[in-house]
Amino acid sequence: SHALTAPATRELRERAENLLRRLGVEPPAPGEISARTPITGSELISLPASDKAEVEAAIARADTAFRGWRTVPAPQRAAVVRRLAALLTEHQDELGELVTLEAGKIGPEARGEVQEMIDVCEFAIGLSRQLYGRTMPSERPGHRLMETWHPLGVVGVISAFNFPVAVWAWNTAVALVCGDTVVWKPSEATPLTALACHALLRRAAADVGADPEVHQLIQGPAAVGEQLVDDPRVALVSATGSVRMGQQVAPRVAARFGRCLLELGGNNAAIVTPTADLELATRGIVFAAAGTAGQRCTTLRRLIAHADVAGPLLDRISAAYRQLRVGNPLEDGVLVGPLINERAYDGMRAALERALADGGELVCGGERVEGPGDGFYVRPAIVRMPAQTAVVREETFAPILYVMTYQDLDAAIEMHNAVPQGLSSSIFTQNQREAERFLAADGSDCGIANVNIGTSGAEIGGAFGGEKQTGGGRESGSDSWKAYMRRATNTVNYSTELPLAQGIRFE
Ligand code: NAD
Repeated sequence: SHALTAPATRELRERAENLLRRLGVEPPAPGEISARTPITGSELISLPASDKAEVEAAIARADTAFRGWRTVPAPQRAAVVRRLAALLTEHQDELGELVTLEAGKIGPEARGEVQEMIDVCEFAIGLSRQLYGRTMPSERPGHRLMETWHPLGVVGVISAFNFPVAVWAWNTAVALVCGDTVVWKPSEATPLTALACHALLRRAAADVGADPEVHQLIQGPAAVGEQLVDDPRVALVSATGSVRMGQQVAPRVAARFGRCLLELGGNNAAIVTPTADLELATRGIVFAAAGTAGQRCTTLRRLIAHADVAGPLLDRISAAYRQLRVGNPLEDGVLVGPLINERAYDGMRAALERALADGGELVCGGERVEGPGDGFYVRPAIVRMPAQTAVVREETFAPILYVMTYQDLDAAIEMHNAVPQGLSSSIFTQNQREAERFLAADGSDCGIANVNIGTSGAEIGGAFGGEKQTGGGRESGSDSWKAYMRRATNTVNYSTELPLAQGIRFE
């Protein structure tokens, strides 16, 4: 494989530079951030990290831009997002390919990620005419009681490597129509897609005559994010990443009474009951567990199958796993691309060793396979576990599916909920009682609970996020926009009297 490394890397580097140019990004000056491709494991381009003064200046520009942006009517603010959606549609293949180069996603998933950006733009455009407040009946005569939603301020967006562009769009499209400005700190593993998104948004703003300073990009490691987290001008910190990151960020934001929107790790499970359509369940499980090489926050990591169906189900899943093509995500027909880096591979190996030491039995996969260079390609693993041991209760960001069995649905739901995270969940069943039980108050404790569909691949129309260590935040559809605005309650007296609430007399 080493013989292939050099030419493959040169070709990928040229491809990246070309894509950046077509997306409106001039080649950056060399610097301390290394933009690598997980396809070969080698550097594509280097670029400078933002220093303290640059972060300070970016926040200051966003804060100044907010003062004007908040007074632009929301449907007019939507013009920027409409233009962004058009540019994304025009450049969908180019941005998708850059996602493949930088994050290692297969083509259809990378283009799907850009589609998700377009979808959330459309949602936000509609939303710009629906930022509704309520009116309530006042208890006093001649009074009106109502609420108004106002722009919040500067939103600091911190994002993870595995959805390098969609998470930015979820936050930015909604924040902009809500009248906020954005300072974005992308993952240090995906700086190039960030340059591309920033360039597209600035162009969209310029094209419609809006202030391009409504969006700022800062680049670099966690320390750059920390400066954003600690700045009192940043009204909302919307942070997507590991539980560890959330544990560092949340107390710092709380200490200055800022707002946090946390989208942290998951440890998602599916329950398969005796009445499940096993063919459909298999398809849902394989995409959710092995897709994106197990690097989605919603990846299926735990399978809780009824003892009567576990055998035939596992036979089907492992047969499908054997058919999965692992390799270069730029090639048609490949379904599983590389892990992001060596650390992810080491994490997978360590987790598998612990699982086997706990009495787990490796059903298939787990081994490293050759790719076009020094990338970390693995066959997705399935491990049968005698119990839900400590390693199963942790999120390992790699394709490992742990399988446990159950006899009684109550016990299955209890096992399902007995992990610290609470993002996504599914039940496969054709029994309505079982399905409803799973969705009920004493069923799944996750932010996302599905029936006869896998744990991953959410639509943008719903609110996305999870409970417990997943952080409690909600993004994207439904009424998630409320996190990006501040609510004012207004009481208006149009009478000539001054009655006090609760009938209090003060005279
Ligand atoms: P990560 O936590 O290593 O990094 C995420 C981002 O946080 C990066 O931009 C990083 O630089 C920044 N960061 C880290 N520490 C920080 C600190 N102390 N202050 C400020 N910024 C800091 O995560 P990752 O490896 O990029 O992504 C994988 C993780 O993200 C997984 O746990 C996955 O489940 C989670 N994730 C969650 C969601 C969700 O919506 N719930 C979506 C995607 C990924």
